[in-house]
Amino acid sequence: GDSGVPGRVRVAVRLRPRNSEEQVADADFADCVELQPELKRLKLRKNNWDLDTFEFDEVLTEFASQKRVYEVVAKPVVESVLDGYNGTVMAYGQTGTGKTFTLGRLGEEDTAARGIMVRSMEDILADISPEIDSVSVSYLQLYMETIQDLLDPTNDNIPIVEDPKTGDVSVPGATLVEIRDQHSFVELLRLGEAHRFAANTKLNTESSRSHAILMVHVRRSVKGNEAAFSSENGNASHMIKNFRAPLVRKGKLVVVDLAGSEGHTLEEAKCINLSLSALGKCINALAENSPHVPVRDSKLTRLLRDSFGGTARTSLIVTIGPSPRHRGETSSTIMFGQRAM
Ligand code: ADP
Ligand code: MG
Repeated sequence: GDSGVPGRVRVAVRLRPRNSEEQVADADFADCVELQPELKRLKLRKNNWDLDTFEFDEVLTEFASQKRVYEVVAKPVVESVLDGYNGTVMAYGQTGTGKTFTLGRLGEEDTAARGIMVRSMEDILADISPEIDSVSVSYLQLYMETIQDLLDPTNDNIPIVEDPKTGDVSVPGATLVEIRDQHSFVELLRLGEAHRFAANTKLNTESSRSHAILMVHVRRSVKGNEAAFSSENGNASHMIKNFRAPLVRKGKLVVVDLAGSEGHTLEEAKCINLSLSALGKCINALAENSPHVPVRDSKLTRLLRDSFGGTARTSLIVTIGPSPRHRGETSSTIMFGQRAM
């Protein structure tokens, strides 16, 4: 994927450090991967002697800070959303490899720990004018091809509405909360997490089996002086574009903490793999520049339809663990990321 081109998927890989259990149990074994971040390369161990080499748009080691991960994975997407485009940031990987750490950490006790959701909102709130612009969010869980409202647990079967003319996707049944400050956003994420935990306890499932989807709608009024400012700096085509620009610019950021990519069983596996494999097919189609992106195959890809491909900017972070015991899962995660490029 090319970072500069909308419609292509930008793919980063992030390795989490060994946890304390792995430090002890795997002490005599090498990690299953070796990273060369400056070359944007990852080597996966095949056996004691051989390694396979893969290239990514970005290779993030176990020492990469949350700030750096945000800057390379999400910031370009957030900036294009502020310019009125749609965009998606998603994390894919085996359970326990750091998807929620990367996207969802609130970091209240330690601001350096804040994840992509919190940092994105911080940048959005810093850039807009509170008097004339607005930011509102929905927070959903997709489980077994059913959409549940994480901000209102009674609302547990939300339909997707697609506008056949514009191609816009919406979930008008979902709670939409206007955000005015960072504190209320963090509170909302916390509420959503609590509801997610409660819903999954009730259904006797784990959050690793569902997708968590945050939708951030940014609506900006284009001021006259802003248009004049950009035409001064721009060329003639810029002037025409600004002259014709609508007075309201709308962008949507979708952040998806995907279900664990490891093998699941029975009915769940079909549904989870339905959404994940449909996502994989769409990502492949984009990578191959195919005119047909099969978005209709699952709820997840239907939801992402207007935030994926076309003028939208898409960033995928694949998360992996270092343990040699998980080499198989790590290998299939790496292949998922490779197929997106
Ligand atoms: P997932 O959402 O993919 O199941 P989590 O984000 O819950 O995984 O991470 C699993 C565990 O690993 C958590 O205890 C988390 O704090 C830790 N972890 C994940 N990524 C990192 C990282 N980059 N640095 C330090 N700890 C991490
Ligand atoms: Mg998680």
